[in-house]
Amino acid sequence: MWLRFSSFVVFMAAGAAAGWWLRGWPAACGGIMLAALAWWLVDVWRALRVLRSLRDGETAALPSMRGLWGEVADRLRRLRRAEQRRLEDSERRLQEFLEAIQASSNGVMLLDAEGRINWCNPTAASHFGIDIERDRDQLIGNLVRDPNFTSYYAHPDPNRNAMVTGSGDSAGRPVRLAVRLHAYGEGRRLMLSNDVTAVEQAEAMRRDFVANVSHEIRTPLTVLTGFVETLQSLPLEEGERARYLELMAQQASRMQTLVNDLLTLSRIEGSPPPGRNEWTPLAALTDDCEDEAQALSALLTAGQGAAHALHFEPAPALALAGSRTELMSAMSNLVSNAVRYTPAGGSVTVAWQLLAGGQAEFAVVDTGPGVAPEHIPRLTERFYRVDRSRSRETGGTGLGLAIVKHVVQRHGAELRIQSTLGKGSRFAIVFPANRVRQAAGSAQAVQ
Ligand code: ADP
Repeated sequence: MWLRFSSFVVFMAAGAAAGWWLRGWPAACGGIMLAALAWWLVDVWRALRVLRSLRDGETAALPSMRGLWGEVADRLRRLRRAEQRRLEDSERRLQEFLEAIQASSNGVMLLDAEGRINWCNPTAASHFGIDIERDRDQLIGNLVRDPNFTSYYAHPDPNRNAMVTGSGDSAGRPVRLAVRLHAYGEGRRLMLSNDVTAVEQAEAMRRDFVANVSHEIRTPLTVLTGFVETLQSLPLEEGERARYLELMAQQASRMQTLVNDLLTLSRIEGSPPPGRNEWTPLAALTDDCEDEAQALSALLTAGQGAAHALHFEPAPALALAGSRTELMSAMSNLVSNAVRYTPAGGSVTVAWQLLAGGQAEFAVVDTGPGVAPEHIPRLTERFYRVDRSRSRETGGTGLGLAIVKHVVQRHGAELRIQSTLGKGSRFAIVFPANRVRQAAGSAQAVQ
């Protein structure tokens, strides 16, 4: 301001001096007036320059000059720059927010007051089979036809999910979505969707599992209770009494085996995956299996005239990394199945083999009844049995191959089942090369 005032005074003084110098004192007044006019014109010109740049919206082109207008231009430039930065900042934040919603595994869809699709993320698009470019502004009610959704949309409740069939649903591959609507803005709605297929399947599996366990336990319990009542109410002869007690012991042991298998399954599921610090020689694993197989075979074939021909081929001098208990459990389940399902007189062969890629294969081959191809993919399901009565008679729980499958998965191995109905089966576990090494004290190399 001081500069402006002094420039004005300097102009006046210069005008007055010029007038005096040209024509003496009377012309000095005219000089002052001319100088004031010139100062005003220069001032207006400077103001117009600033105004023109503002009108063009070109803050970068705001003239740089001194004085009041220079300062005005300078402040305007700074204000504009701050505004620009704020805009860029909120633009960036909006972009980040949208990217986060795009990346969400939950479906997010924005609907207007009429229920037209304004925007949705890729997850929501795949949940409902929507192409956002094609279906923008389409009514959601025309695209999602599930009656559950229609009734929920008519009476939305933000505290309740609607269970809706998702896009791509089929009998073999169900897709179930939990959908929720939240009101916002002026009649707008935010629609959230979540794929709950796996949760629903897990829940169904849990229900089936509980039903199966109860069913498995109920039969021996009923038998046991019956015998207890008989023993309590009837005066029995010693021989009869001993027979009843033996039958009771059998049922109790059946329940015990089931509980043991259930505990093994839950322990395997709940513990961390086995590392590669514990190494067990293959020979030690096979020897334990052989002892069990001999005892089981003797028990099952007692009094039948013929026994099983059990061949345990010598294991290579290798060691296997993993949980010894789990490995034993998987191997002995395969061997005991072969012994249990193969009739007396049949043969069971157990062998280890080092494969070309360095993997180790444990194979159990029997000459039992075999399994029809349609059953093979389901054998590892819990409580799935092909021959129910043979399984029960021989103390099966229906959990053996489920345990094998878990152990195999946890060790990065593969379970291979080959079977021909009426001829026999081959159950093999192929362990990855990184879990196989030469046994301590052996000179054999692992390729
Ligand atoms: P289980 O305790 O009933 O033997 P598993 O899970 O071990 O249960 O096996 C599932 C079913 O697979 C068995 O009930 C049986 O019908 C079939 N199975 C398993 N191993 C053999 C085999 N070696 N020969 C024929 N059938 C077999």
